[in-house]
Amino acid sequence: MPDVTETLRGYVHFMREREGVRQIKLTRVAREGLAKITGAGRASAGVARATPLPGSWSGSGATGSNPRTEARNAPPTFNRGASEPIARSATATPPRPPTPNERIEVTGSTKIEQLAHLNERAQACQKCPHLAARRNTVVFGVGDPDAQLMFVGEGPGEEEDLKGEPFVGKAGQLLTKMIAAMGLTREQVYIANIVKCRPDMPPGVPGNRKPTRDEMDTCVPYLRAQIDIIKPRALVALGATAIEGLVGANGSMSSLRGKFLEYRGVPLMPTYHPAYLLRNQSNTEKRKVWEDLLKVMERLELPISEKQRGYFLTKG
Ligand code: URA
Repeated sequence: MPDVTETLRGYVHFMREREGVRQIKLTRVAREGLAKITGAGRASAGVARATPLPGSWSGSGATGSNPRTEARNAPPTFNRGASEPIARSATATPPRPPTPNERIEVTGSTKIEQLAHLNERAQACQKCPHLAARRNTVVFGVGDPDAQLMFVGEGPGEEEDLKGEPFVGKAGQLLTKMIAAMGLTREQVYIANIVKCRPDMPPGVPGNRKPTRDEMDTCVPYLRAQIDIIKPRALVALGATAIEGLVGANGSMSSLRGKFLEYRGVPLMPTYHPAYLLRNQSNTEKRKVWEDLLKVMERLELPISEKQRGYFLTKG
């Protein structure tokens, strides 16, 4: 059962990272809702303060372009996206204890069969009853089962929950542009999240929240199984929660990003979440993410044009 402080902290994190909100005022209904979710008494904070974090590659409408050629011939443009509001409540059914090291047995002789079997298991998952009760879909993952490159995000937001596909909201459109800037398409990579169900919110509370540690630990075996099946040559962790969920690191993204870590023998590049770039439109921040992606491209021996090397070098 998530504790009230953790839930509130997750909410503040989300409002800060995705919405850029600095001061969050909780109504009585929201406080009571949070308390109900956690079953842990009343949420005490009426006002939660959020320190702004560094920013975002911005983006809207990333679809419809020809990524491979466009990426090399024109600098990518990233436009500001709207916020990703959400609010739903949860029942107070206790989840089972998290099992982060659980190994999920999958059947099937091909990657497609194995992923399909794992997906079936995930679709029926009830390990977090409070999330299962509120979800519209289980957002398993999307892309090429043979992908060399896999992106890992935090968890589904409202649009992802409705569509059943990761990264289809504003942040997702920006991610698609980032992938296009690398000369790739969404279909050529694999995209998944630390948690497969949208973290629920109490009634009357807008926005999303970060998954709790228990929710991450409970769900991460699915992601681990996905990685083991796909066997990508590189992973990109988008944002602090992805890093926390994968390797347990709790540091700031500014200190973690740009240096390869390793996850199950696979090089893992931490970088900022695209939602960060949506709020932080400066070329300086875009360049940081782009440099992280250039390192991944080098590791994968992808072709890199001079034009690509120069993206976001101008101030602004
Ligand atoms: N942000 C994430 O981390 N994952 C999604 O699927 C969408 C937005």
